[in-house]
Amino acid sequence: MKITGVETYVLESLLGDKAFGWSLWVTDRRQAALCVISTDEGIDGVGEALYSGCPAATATNLINDAYAPLIIGRNPFDNAVIWDLLYNRTRDQGMKGMPICALSAIDIALWDIKGKALGLPIHKLLGGSYRDKAHVYATGLYQPQNVSSITDALTEEALGYKQDGFSAMKLKVGYGIEEDIRLVKAVREAIGDDISLMVDANHAYNASEAIRLAREMEKYNIHWFEEPVPPEDIDGYLEVKQKSGIIITGGECEYTRYGFRELITRRAVDILQPDLCAAGGFTELARIVTLASAWNVPVMPHVWGTNVGLAASLQFFATLPHFPERRYPAEPFFEYDRSTHPLRDGISREKFAMKNGYLDIPQRPGLGITLDMSFVKKYAIS
Ligand code: CA
Repeated sequence: MKITGVETYVLESLLGDKAFGWSLWVTDRRQAALCVISTDEGIDGVGEALYSGCPAATATNLINDAYAPLIIGRNPFDNAVIWDLLYNRTRDQGMKGMPICALSAIDIALWDIKGKALGLPIHKLLGGSYRDKAHVYATGLYQPQNVSSITDALTEEALGYKQDGFSAMKLKVGYGIEEDIRLVKAVREAIGDDISLMVDANHAYNASEAIRLAREMEKYNIHWFEEPVPPEDIDGYLEVKQKSGIIITGGECEYTRYGFRELITRRAVDILQPDLCAAGGFTELARIVTLASAWNVPVMPHVWGTNVGLAASLQFFATLPHFPERRYPAEPFFEYDRSTHPLRDGISREKFAMKNGYLDIPQRPGLGITLDMSFVKKYAIS
């Protein structure tokens, strides 16, 4: 089997009055960077790259211009060889960030092809599934714009998740400690004590601020505190982890086994959150999980894309071992983004529906989804 073509698509949808804020800025549009790899046997694979506000740099410049010419004519089953080839081509100026996001999309598409060629879901090619459904938490509770009361809007949204059957949800913080505590208190009191509540600061704080916030949040029974400090501040993570009574998580802004090495070996987080569409695709994420398992650090992936990234992340999630294995193991949580994303569901013919707090892991070959190309073309801006 040979790769014969690579197509990229950049999609965009403006959010208008559905724009939402978080600790760093207001998100006013959702975008997606996709690649479709075709082969001489008529089997196509699709991948998605996480973007940083500039999906064209990832899709057009990196995937299309830099990487595609290097993989035409190669066998998709040589995915690890192709990974090394592409990584080494951009390594000197691209060890982290967009080049690895682009590489992730290509790697995901290659695994989709392998699965379709063999008639097996990707989790079977990666060693098998520990689970056939994913226990999800709702990612939402961003800062709504154009509402009379942010607190009322957030408590209403939180109650909506509870009514929908979610047993866990994540609230954005990072607006200043006093405001954060006000929001955490309001949401906790609205949903009651039986729902797991995580918070996510998107690295808005320095270590001393994060420690103060963590201590003040302890009485609200916070399940985990995500990205308290900037991703480069490993010592800050260690300080927060040592002085906080709350589980500390992070990793969505880290890339490859080389980047995760320090987070893992220095035990800087309690739970590692690599993103499949950013940190290196299936090939590299499997290595990161192996590294994490040697240090007994649990892995629960970051997920924030369209149904392509969601389907890929579910395949990967199926293969995550328990940390550690035991008679009654703790099941990992799967991130189910519920924030406004007009491109998320329409992009694939297959839809995902949560049942009783769980998402089924697709058992169809490859990623288990097919693109709706008329939808892709409708929203494509390049
Ligand atoms: Ca996050």
